[in-house]
Amino acid sequence: MKTWLLALQQQLSRQIRDNKLPHALLFSGVDGAGQEAIAHWLINVLLCQDLTQNRQQETEENLSQVSEETTSVPPFIFQPCGYCKTCKLFANDSYPDHLTIVNEKNTIGVDAIRKLSQFFEKTAHIGIAKTALVNHADTMTVSAANALLKTLEEPTSQSFIMLTTHSSDVLLPTIISRCQKFEIRPPVGKKLLAEYKKQGNDAFVNLSHLSELTDEATAVAFTAFRDKVKDYLSAHQYRTEILTLLVERHDGFRWLEKVLVNLMRNQWGWPTAGYENQQKSVINKQQLWQVYNLVQAANIKLKTLVQVNRQFLSEKLLADISVVVEQKNQ
Ligand SMILES: [Zn+2]
Repeated sequence: MKTWLLALQQQLSRQIRDNKLPHALLFSGVDGAGQEAIAHWLINVLLCQDLTQNRQQETEENLSQVSEETTSVPPFIFQPCGYCKTCKLFANDSYPDHLTIVNEKNTIGVDAIRKLSQFFEKTAHIGIAKTALVNHADTMTVSAANALLKTLEEPTSQSFIMLTTHSSDVLLPTIISRCQKFEIRPPVGKKLLAEYKKQGNDAFVNLSHLSELTDEATAVAFTAFRDKVKDYLSAHQYRTEILTLLVERHDGFRWLEKVLVNLMRNQWGWPTAGYENQQKSVINKQQLWQVYNLVQAANIKLKTLVQVNRQFLSEKLLADISVVVEQKNQ
């Protein structure tokens, strides 16, 4: 396990021990941050029939780097035994009380989420707990996300849903608000390189995935884009610049979604990571919601259609947004 995940493992272990683990958990972080690894470990811990507490020397050494306070106390981290019936079945992807949802064709559709709901309605075959994992939760379609909301709202007992994502900003705020959210922040810069050397053949090698965290130019470009989108929504300015970015940047549509989600959070009085707070709303809630749905629909088209004319899609999207925005003057 990556060293920066140990503190989180310890926190989750305590929550399990104290019976305070929530029904839905969301792990987010850049690609390779370890959100899938944490979710996998946690599910295995919940299912294992012979749970042990890890007191390995190596772990203690690693953990002492995470927090000074823990040097004298052995870290409290649950570990699945690895040899009980459920551990073996889980390792073979054949444990009947666990379900993993994968994104086929780059999206998670409503059928997959319905399968998940039905899975939780049945009683457990072997153990007591039932678990489900939704990787890349940000790729859920709107109807899939709405279906998942129902399951999140009406949990069956001893059921646990883990969501992982590399961009929680494009998840519906209503989904996020029903989960305990864990943002995994791997070390950056020199610390990360040191980590990389230490771990050798680790999957976390592609530093370009970290561009939005580490690359100043990307951060500046995003901020400028965000400000232009606000001006577009409030005063119909910067259409050309926004269009160019949507057409030319591969993640342009994702950026637009991110901006809108942050605007919605702001309107609903939720804290956001950046400086979106304390700004006046550009358009009203209902309009923002309509615009967001337009952007999401366009984003889904972009992801799912093989032959899509990006220029046309971008122009149509901006035209549709204008129609919504101009309603306020009537
Ligand atoms: Zn076990």
